[in-house]
Amino acid sequence: MQPRIRSAPFTVAATLTATACLLTPAVPAAAAAPTQGHGHGHRFTPGAPGVGDRYFPLEGNGGYDVRHYDLALDYTPASNALVATARVTARATQNLSRFDLDLKQLTVSSVRVNGRAAAFTRKGQELVVTPPVGLRKGARFTVTVAYAGSPQPVQRPDLGRFGWIRTPDGAYVVCEPDGASTWFPSSDHPTDKATYTYRVTVPKGTQVLANGEPGGETTRGGKSTFVWHERSPMASYLAMLAIGKYTVQKGRTRHGTPVISAVAPNRADELKIIHEKTIQAVDWEEKVFGEYPFTSVGGIRVGVDVAFSLETQSRPIYGYEPDTATIVHELSHQWFGNSVSVRRWQDIWLNEGFATYAEWLWDEQHSGPTAKSAFDFLYERPESWSSYKELWLARKTGDPGPNELFTITPYWRGGMTLHALRERIGDRAFFALLKVWTRTHRNGNVTTEQFIALAERISHKQLDGLFHAWLYTKTKPTKW
Ligand SMILES: [Zn+2]
Repeated sequence: MQPRIRSAPFTVAATLTATACLLTPAVPAAAAAPTQGHGHGHRFTPGAPGVGDRYFPLEGNGGYDVRHYDLALDYTPASNALVATARVTARATQNLSRFDLDLKQLTVSSVRVNGRAAAFTRKGQELVVTPPVGLRKGARFTVTVAYAGSPQPVQRPDLGRFGWIRTPDGAYVVCEPDGASTWFPSSDHPTDKATYTYRVTVPKGTQVLANGEPGGETTRGGKSTFVWHERSPMASYLAMLAIGKYTVQKGRTRHGTPVISAVAPNRADELKIIHEKTIQAVDWEEKVFGEYPFTSVGGIRVGVDVAFSLETQSRPIYGYEPDTATIVHELSHQWFGNSVSVRRWQDIWLNEGFATYAEWLWDEQHSGPTAKSAFDFLYERPESWSSYKELWLARKTGDPGPNELFTITPYWRGGMTLHALRERIGDRAFFALLKVWTRTHRNGNVTTEQFIALAERISHKQLDGLFHAWLYTKTKPTKW
């Protein structure tokens, strides 16, 4: 994620972000009595309605692990009408009498589990499914949900409008942190990664782009169906579609990863620079962060501006004309956020602090200002600076609050945390740490505690004090 104003602290026109206080619902206690399975004497119980993330208690679901989403979507841009069938393949992690999927707004017409009709109810964002027979722990099962409606964007105080965004000739989706459930039934939390197949049917003449690689295109009657595959595990918030008319450019990175870049017709002049900068950024990031974690890359510049860009897996969406820093930022998230993902949203600095630091490192290694000068610039701002309180006193970097994920604290103070660490442990240990971190946790989920432990192991230094001051206080720390 890169809010338009968040780039380059040197040109900061920093806005103070409104921080409305929204109540998050508590996780309802699993109320239903356990039910018996089929005469085997095993207890079958309901899966939890959330994975227990303190910031988003209902996001994700308990009792199963999604392996694959196969999403067949028929979309009519003119009327914003979506008619869809989601086939979700999962593995039960407990004996399940019933389970939830996350789904907002849309209307469900039927649910089948392993091909048999299942009972379902809606409860807020939860689609509660009761299969005709209990699902045994360890069993693979398939849930097929037929649904339809007119997908709508959602709002956050720190972000504005996100989710399903209409354009004059189509739509695109940018779903961090909890927007995926506005367009498909999901276990909408980064801890439940899965692979994806999209089969998107649109009026002939309209194109569809998505994560991963294209799997063919067929046209029948007045409609075309585009297939895309994301073959690497992906968090639901990184699932992406771009529907409309696009100009596409293809190529490869230095190491041979296929590149697919695309721009809306009214952004045609941006295609060449986005495509070339994408390749340059990935080539450089592979040197600094390690092997690129996915099977293709690229970037999509949509035709309607939103106030941010998003690192949708393998192919970021640019909601405004991206400068080099934005491209470097979104692509660095392919390592930090997409491959190595947060286990809980409070650790968002593991995404945004690292992506901010990637921008500073790019400058440092491309004849620009050093990372230290970026650090010093922010560190030396006087108390009269408009963002002073925001950066130092408003919230904790390592626990900013559910409605303050995309504020400057996880970004700039997060980046400064990494710079303070680098000064403390030295370049050799710091750059080794970045590569070991991305390699060890590739396609996984992590916490700040794991990062601190690894930093201590690699540097042979006791770092609790440094991380505490930078991540868990609402004061301006001493440097390092
Ligand atoms: Zn970001």
